[in-house]
Amino acid sequence: MVIVGIECTAHTFGVGVVDKGKILSNVRDMYTTEEGGIIPMESAKHHDSVAEEIWKSALKEADVKESEITAIALSNAPGLAPCLLSGMKFAKSKAKELGVPIVGVNHCIAHLEIGRSVGATDPVLLYASGANTQIIAYAAGKYRVFGETLDTGIGNFIDKVGRTFGMGFPGGPKIEKEALKASEEDYIELSYSIKGMDVSFSGMQTKIQQLYNSAKDKEFEIPKLCFSLQETAFAMLVEAAERALAHTGKTELVLGGGVACNARLQEMCKLMCQERGAKFFCPERPLLVDNAAMIAYTGEIMLNSGIKEDVDKIDIKPRERTDDIAVTWR
Ligand code: AMP
Ligand code: MG
Repeated sequence: MVIVGIECTAHTFGVGVVDKGKILSNVRDMYTTEEGGIIPMESAKHHDSVAEEIWKSALKEADVKESEITAIALSNAPGLAPCLLSGMKFAKSKAKELGVPIVGVNHCIAHLEIGRSVGATDPVLLYASGANTQIIAYAAGKYRVFGETLDTGIGNFIDKVGRTFGMGFPGGPKIEKEALKASEEDYIELSYSIKGMDVSFSGMQTKIQQLYNSAKDKEFEIPKLCFSLQETAFAMLVEAAERALAHTGKTELVLGGGVACNARLQEMCKLMCQERGAKFFCPERPLLVDNAAMIAYTGEIMLNSGIKEDVDKIDIKPRERTDDIAVTWR
């Protein structure tokens, strides 16, 4: 059973090949900008232009012929509509050409399911990406959202702060680098905003912008602000994740999403897990960021449980929520 996954929800177009849970290839290309954020139409054009090439190189790397493909798994939700449409058009043309079914995979759920490939069985997922920030776990037939952002995703928040500092997209890795230049004594108190299990970042964003704009030596201020941002925002996420572990009684934490590449966030999660005797799983970077191997991996699990979709009926669902989906495959 050879499943080819396609990831297209936002900035990344990827194709990944999975065979019985084994990842044979995971090729991706990301839309970036020198300044400013993602323009959905531009990102969709990026997907259109790289799709065929990424498809070919993923099959080649996996050493799989098109005739061997059993099904296509497509990240048809949630995401930016133009990007989802680009991916769906591509997936449909391939599926028709090859006469194989397409299974629609929810991108957020794929970030959780891929945790199984690194050994997690029934984890709490801290999903920290650009547009999404959620704490997700399985309960009674669905992946429930135990906590989430009330305004922007953590990554979008970090990228917006990065833009204030004149950094292009994505700002996250640059902010992490700057933060390493500061230490505890540089910490500036920012609004620690956690309501119940939910978090919010807009207050912190405004405060950082104000502090930056009023700073005499702006360059000097950047590392301190980056450090303080990370310490505050990540502590909020880890607190919510810890409470989800406590409430659900689960004993595994999985990290997912691009922001999870941040070494400081990983360290804070690891410490929290150690302190409460939970296991911590952090997939390798290629499986943390938006990628198609996780889509293929999840698609295979879904197909094995008997789920099938008609090539002509599949549609994009830009606003589908994690807890909209009946999880019939576990
Ligand atoms: P995703 O949407 O899951 O692909 O993740 C993209 C987001 O991850 C962007 O907002 C990036 O700025 C952010 N990101 C990537 N690497 C890092 C990092 N090392 N630290 C913080 N954020 C990061
Ligand atoms: Mg993602």
